[in-house]
Amino acid sequence: MSTQHDPQTSWLASLHELSDKGLYRSLRQINSPQLPEIQIENQNFINFASNDYLGLSSHPELKEAAIEAIQKWGVGSGSSRLVSGSLAPHHQLEEAISTIKKTEASLTFTSGFTAAIGTITALATPSDVIILDKLCHASLIDGARLAKSILRIFPHNNLPKLEEHLAWARKNHPHAKIFILTEAVFSMDGDVSPLREIVHLKNEYGAILMVDEAHSFGLFGPSGAGLLEEYGLSQQVEIQMSTFSKAAGCSGGAISGSRALIDLLINKARSFIYTTAPPPANACVLLKSLELIRSHTGNQLRQKLRKNIQLIAPEHLTPIIPWVIGSETDALAASQELLQQGLFVPAIRYPTVPKNAARLRISLTASHSTEAVQKLSKILQKVKK
Ligand SMILES: *Cc1c(COP(=O)(O)O)cnc(C)c1O
Repeated sequence: MSTQHDPQTSWLASLHELSDKGLYRSLRQINSPQLPEIQIENQNFINFASNDYLGLSSHPELKEAAIEAIQKWGVGSGSSRLVSGSLAPHHQLEEAISTIKKTEASLTFTSGFTAAIGTITALATPSDVIILDKLCHASLIDGARLAKSILRIFPHNNLPKLEEHLAWARKNHPHAKIFILTEAVFSMDGDVSPLREIVHLKNEYGAILMVDEAHSFGLFGPSGAGLLEEYGLSQQVEIQMSTFSKAAGCSGGAISGSRALIDLLINKARSFIYTTAPPPANACVLLKSLELIRSHTGNQLRQKLRKNIQLIAPEHLTPIIPWVIGSETDALAASQELLQQGLFVPAIRYPTVPKNAARLRISLTASHSTEAVQKLSKILQKVKK
C-alpha cells in the first residue's frame, strides 16, 4: 500500500493540522459525579462546565427513582417504540411533558440531537424553505441540511434580516412551507431570542416556528417549562423542542405540539422509528425531575441560580456566561490558568463558535456555593477579555 493511501497517515495529518490551528480537542476523564466539585486526575476542581443548571443530576430523589425503576422495569427497553418498546413510563413521561408545556401532545427521543434531526427531516421537504438563526445549534443545522430544503441564514437575532428572508420565501416559493428555526437561549452566548417578535413575524408570513428550549427548559416560566411559558407564547409556537440533558439533569429530548404533529413524527421521524427506546428508568427519572421542576423545590433552585448569576453578571438572564477572549490559543491559556487556580472553566473554540471568537464558557448552577462563585468572579477580573 502506498503511504498516500494509508488511512493512518492521512488521519494523523488531519490531527496535526488541527493542532497547528489550536483546534485539537481531546477528552478529559472525570473521576467523580457531575457535582459543583469534580475530580480530574486525583485533583479537585470547582466545576463551571456543566449544564446541570439546577444540580438535579445527583439529586437523591432522582437517584431513588432510578433504582426503583430498574427494580420494576429492568434496564433495557428491548426494541423501538413502534415494535415492543413503548413501555408505560414513556407514555406517562409524554403526558407529563405535555402538561408542563401546555400542548396537546409530546414525543420523546433518546436525545435533543436526535429530536431535532428527526423532526426537521420528517416535516421539511426539498421544496420547502428553512430559515435559521446564524448561531443555531449543530442539531438544528444538521436537520436542515439532511432535509435538503432551501436554506437561509439570518444574522444572530436580527429581525429585519429574518423578515427579508420571509418576504423573499413567500414571493419566490409561494407553495412552500416556510420554517423558522431558533433557540430560546443560545448555548454558547447565553443570550435570549426575541421570541415575541419572531412569533409576530411568523404569523404575518404564515411560517412555522420551531423553538429549541435546550437551555431554557427548567429555568424559566412559572412551572419551569421554558421561555415560551415565561412569555405566554406556549399556544403560539407549532414545534417546541426540549432537552432533558441540561436543567432536567438526565438525558433525552422531546417535541411538544399538536396531536397531528406528534402523530406525524411517530410515523415519519427516522431518529424515533429506527432506534431502540431509551431505558424505562430514564423516563421514570425524568418524571420525577419534571415533578421537582414544577414544585416549590424547583422555584427555590431557580432563585438560588439567579443569585449565583448576579454575582458574576448582574444584568444577565441565563446561567451561560460567555467570557469572550478572541484568539483560540489565548482562550486555551486562560482556561489553563483558571485550572491552576482550581477552577474548571472550558475554552470554547471554532467550530463551536466562530473563528477568533474563542471564549471561556462559564456555566453556573444552583448547587454552586456563593463562595465558589465569588472566587470565580475575583479571578475573572484578571483575565483580559
Ligand atoms: C445540548 C443541545 C442540544 C442537544 O441536546 P442533547 O440532549 O444533549 O442531545 C440541542 N440544542 C441545543 C441548543 C443544545 O444546547
